[in-house]
Amino acid sequence: ANKLVLTVVVLGASGDLAKKKTFPALFTLFRKGFLPKNLKLIGYARSKLSNEDLHGKIKDYLKGDDKTKDEFLSRVSYVPGSYDGDEGFQGLEKVLEEREKEFEGAPLGRLFYLALPPSVYPQVCAGLKKNCANIKMAGKDSWLRLVIEKPFGMDLKTSEELADKLGELFPEEQLYRIDHYLGKELMQNMLVLRFANQFLSPTWHRNFISNVQICFKEPFGTEGRGGYFDEFGIIRDVMQNHLTQILALLAMEQPVTLSADDIRDEKVRVLRALSPVALEDTVLGQYTAGGDTKAYLDDETVPKGSKTPTFATCVMRIHNERWEGVPWIMKAGKALNERKVEIRVQYKPPAASIHGEVIDQMRNELVLRLQPDEAIYMKIVVKKPGLEMESIVSELDLSYKQRYGDTYIPDAYERLILDAIRGDQQHFVRRDELRAAWAAFTPLLHAIDRGEAEPQEYPAGSRGPPASDILVSKAGFVKNANYLWKGKNSG
Ligand code: NAP
Ligand code: NAP
Repeated sequence: ANKLVLTVVVLGASGDLAKKKTFPALFTLFRKGFLPKNLKLIGYARSKLSNEDLHGKIKDYLKGDDKTKDEFLSRVSYVPGSYDGDEGFQGLEKVLEEREKEFEGAPLGRLFYLALPPSVYPQVCAGLKKNCANIKMAGKDSWLRLVIEKPFGMDLKTSEELADKLGELFPEEQLYRIDHYLGKELMQNMLVLRFANQFLSPTWHRNFISNVQICFKEPFGTEGRGGYFDEFGIIRDVMQNHLTQILALLAMEQPVTLSADDIRDEKVRVLRALSPVALEDTVLGQYTAGGDTKAYLDDETVPKGSKTPTFATCVMRIHNERWEGVPWIMKAGKALNERKVEIRVQYKPPAASIHGEVIDQMRNELVLRLQPDEAIYMKIVVKKPGLEMESIVSELDLSYKQRYGDTYIPDAYERLILDAIRGDQQHFVRRDELRAAWAAFTPLLHAIDRGEAEPQEYPAGSRGPPASDILVSKAGFVKNANYLWKGKNSG
């Protein structure tokens, strides 16, 4: 890998993602010594920018000392060009060839990162294929890869159309579809946690588990960016992709090996066992004003009278031997009371309790908090310390900050970009995964698009519409009685 002559081309370099995520992640990898010595970066977009203009745009987002920043920026250049036709891409190819020609015989790597609206992916991929995909002096182990960003379509049909167009140009092995949740620490931990802990493996089953919740909560609304959001809604924005990826890793069978395709084969199998979400298993919401947040419909960029959901709870079903009968509850919302992404695996109560009825309200729960502050904790029932014989819910707790305080937890983009450079597709979404995920949500999305489901109002800053708690409780979730967290941070 040290001999690799690497060029990263960021297409759409003038945009938001490039400056906030792509370049900063590349910089951190560079600073920590993870990138090959022979590295160049090229920004490409239509805007007329100089190298210095681009440096100015991204510099403030890089985290590190000025000397390293300057070293990094000295490797970043800018090539202006359009996304259609050949001319721009020919200009790009010239710069690439110029750079690579002195390394004849060395392995070359070209990573094209599409930080662009997906509407231009087909033409950009066609331009790249025609003009920039023929690595001339390439030695053995040379490669060319494309990283692409969501949204991958609006439903099953449009997603398949996009995948067809890209698939005609580049084989699946060259396409790296980012779902940045797969780069999060606890997601990367999932296969270890699940398949290296003997106490968990046998109980990971409908015989022991009552219900599973996968929950995404954001404390802010659309804040003037509602125009983009309104076309998608919360289900397309986080549920069909991020939360469904979490479900796949939680529910899948053990893969035969840890190879990217063995893992993704198992993910596809479980996603294909999902039945399409039914309207009656869904509660939708849209936030009204609350606290300092104005109502969704008062965001000037949101179309008048929009019925787009900013909150959704969906109860999903996996039809296989392991999960038949276990509700998988997906919950996601904007403008709620807190920021968190967590998984909550709730166990059934003991079969014949000698401790009385209250035990039914005290469930074992394995909670994986992905953000903020990564933590894994298991709710357990213990005797309340003291002279009384009383049961209470307590926890076995692994808080990453306390346990691994000195360890740097990489940003999702850092990991994923490094994986793409290393050629590891494990944490990228394969086409058939995407298809299965869309198949599970498309009938519901179409019903919502046809206006068959009204979102219920909830005030910003609340926990969402009350109907959601009713649905969740009907699905079998029991909120633990009187659980009090006495963590190190809560005094
Ligand atoms: P953006 O800023 O709107 O667009 C990136 C660049 O693309 C722009 O600077 C512009 O460059 C060009 N562009 C914009 N609209 C275009 C159009 N209609 N036709 C042709 N070119 C256009 O987008 P972004 O926020 O960086 O996001 C890029 C991609 O990442 C999108 O697919 C987005 O969904 C995805 N994404 C973004 C974020 C985020 O945090 N921003 C998070 C997750 C996923 P020129 O005009 O200079 O050519
Ligand atoms: P909890 O408060 O017993 O349960 C929270 C769950 O109950 C969530 O699913 C929540 O849904 C739901 N819920 C909350 N209010 C409800 C209501 N009125 N009706 C129906 N359902 C309701 O336990 P916890 O969240 O696991 O722990 C409590 C606190 O302790 C949290 O702040 C947690 O972060 C903290 N804690 C931290 C650690 C750690 O850092 N290591 C360990 C243990 C506990 P929503 O998500 O939709 O609100």
